[in-house]
Amino acid sequence: MNELGENVVMENVVIIGTGPAGLSAAIYAARAELQPLVLAGDTPGGQITITDAIDNFPGFPEGVAGIELFEKMRDQAEKFGARIVAETVTEVDFSSQPLKIKTYDNEYEASTVIISTGSNPRKLNVPGEQEYVGRGVSYCATCDAFFFRGRKVVVVGGGDSAVEEALFLTKFASSVTIVHRRDRLRAQAGLQTRAKNNEKIDFVWDSVVTEIVGDDKAGVTGIKVKNVKTDEESIVETDGVFIFVGHIPNTKLFEGKIDLDETGIIKTDSRQRTSVPGVYAAGDVQDNIYRQAVTSAGTGAAAAMEADKFLADMEGNAYPGKM
Ligand code: NAP
Repeated sequence: MNELGENVVMENVVIIGTGPAGLSAAIYAARAELQPLVLAGDTPGGQITITDAIDNFPGFPEGVAGIELFEKMRDQAEKFGARIVAETVTEVDFSSQPLKIKTYDNEYEASTVIISTGSNPRKLNVPGEQEYVGRGVSYCATCDAFFFRGRKVVVVGGGDSAVEEALFLTKFASSVTIVHRRDRLRAQAGLQTRAKNNEKIDFVWDSVVTEIVGDDKAGVTGIKVKNVKTDEESIVETDGVFIFVGHIPNTKLFEGKIDLDETGIIKTDSRQRTSVPGVYAAGDVQDNIYRQAVTSAGTGAAAAMEADKFLADMEGNAYPGKM
């Protein structure tokens, strides 16, 4: 019963998010006969759905498209009884049991919650960025590379995402310039070698983007860059700017409700427990280090197994203490 006297269905486990972490949690929770309710949110599948090809997910020696991996995981979870609904969480109350979760449409109560809300691309926050989103500025090569067939593009960043997406962009663009703020890439060695050997890719080192320039008719026409060692400023002409400078965890909803670290990720212990008993977190929302589809899936499975134990302990009235 909620404060308005309405009946609220009590759930064993509510899973928030449907990336690899959320769906793996759903598969494990469903197999444990917990009938999980999965709230899919605004972007079902999360970041893997905007990944062209995943080559390192075990079991797919030929690679698998992100969207296909999402669909297979979703079908597997539903096959075992997970209920996946297209609802977005607007508010949570974890101050006491039962835990409360509100969406635009409904209100739920649950003994356990698994948070797997993932992360979103970090912005550069420079003039022109916001203005030219969709008119030359993009955070997703898989989505937008096609529009740059035969044209010049810039990729900003030096991590795995930047280099992997730069390589993907070479299938379409006439040239790809990687602008990185240091003189060496952060990306794994294999990707670096492939990028350095690709004749369509060149590099602007030690440089930050200070502005994205363009006009109403053409959209983006170039970027202003500043060399951080010499302070020299220059313009790189380009038709598109793909920005891959890391991610921000989707934890706004949980501020003040569970412990977050200074970067905003959810603090978990080695058993995926958050600071609130019965609330677990899995995937990118609690991981600043690995952030792989396979590690997210692993933490999702672990969170579901912990939720199952928590429910069993609750029935036996042995309530686990705070971490
Ligand atoms: P990341 O590893 O955090 O790299 C972000 C890059 O952006 C870094 O090179 C960083 O520069 C740069 N950067 C950050 N803020 C910037 C700013 N304000 N202006 C300019 N440059 C900025 O992020 P990611 O590449 O998205 O990767 C995230 C995680 O996913 C990593 O763990 C990665 O290994 C993983 N991932 C793996 C694969 C794969 O295995 N195939 C593919 C994609 C991603 P500095 O280097 O100077 O810090």
